[in-house]
Amino acid sequence: MPPISMSHPLQVLVTGATGRTGALVVQKLQSRSESFSVRGFARSSQKAVERFGSTQNFFFGNILEPKSLVPAVEGCDALVILTSATPQMKPPAQPGQRPEFTFAPGEMPEQIDYQGQINQINAAKHAGVQQIVLVGSMGGTDENHFLNTMGNGNILIWKRKAEQYLIDSGVDYTIIRAGGLLDQPGDQRELVVSKNDVLLAHPPEGLTTSIPRADVAEVVVQALLEPGARNKAFDLVSKPETLNQSSVKNDFNALFAQTQPGL
Ligand code: NAP
Repeated sequence: MPPISMSHPLQVLVTGATGRTGALVVQKLQSRSESFSVRGFARSSQKAVERFGSTQNFFFGNILEPKSLVPAVEGCDALVILTSATPQMKPPAQPGQRPEFTFAPGEMPEQIDYQGQINQINAAKHAGVQQIVLVGSMGGTDENHFLNTMGNGNILIWKRKAEQYLIDSGVDYTIIRAGGLLDQPGDQRELVVSKNDVLLAHPPEGLTTSIPRADVAEVVVQALLEPGARNKAFDLVSKPETLNQSSVKNDFNALFAQTQPGL
């Protein structure tokens, strides 16, 4: 149960709500209306209609324009940050060459993943939001990680700086650093938490370095419910899909009990 000082149902704003994981979080929260009242923040009303059939409970704006966040977070208990810069593939200059990546003008990771997240954290803190759940990425301990080289964006470096800003903000945080995201069904895999990219450096037998977006979305929902997820930052991956089994029941209380505070 959320702390007694929070509303019931819990008022939650999800940013990046028209993104792939963000939309799953919105849908999961909507389906648990006894516990959650959900708002989405997005930049395209057309995309919101395509994903959700309407713009009801949506706020539109841009995380780089702090004023546009103000009405969206007002009265919220919790904020879920699912925005991210997204690299775009450029066709190779010559046939047979490796493709290159770029970011849209004005949408480099320093802007979206650092300043854009700072804007969200500041707006939430100012509005009295009590918990921020931030979905980020594993790999941030390695400056030379290939994701940092994409479009010269240093995306993992900027994401990690924003995570530190969140921790320093004094607002209760849950930082979920996912492994490679898969568009596969959730509840089919046992989830595993760790820290500091240990699982990337030394992946144990029987573990993948990836996880379905649907499972990440469920961890976000559980992080809003379970006190054990508060003020924790952790890496999140999954074991391979369990065959011949209809679903896997992860014990989220036990999972969060294995996580640690601090970056
Ligand atoms: P995604 O589909 O790329 O969604 C990103 C969202 O951010 C989109 O909804 C986008 O809006 C929104 N956004 C970007 N700039 C914005 C701005 N200026 N103002 C408002 N919204 C803005 O995300 P995902 O692939 O589900 O990933 C979720 C998180 O997991 C990200 O932080 C990602 O880095 C991380 N992650 C990804 C992987 C992977 O394998 N891809 C692995 C580990 C972790 P639009 O909908 O309008 O485009």
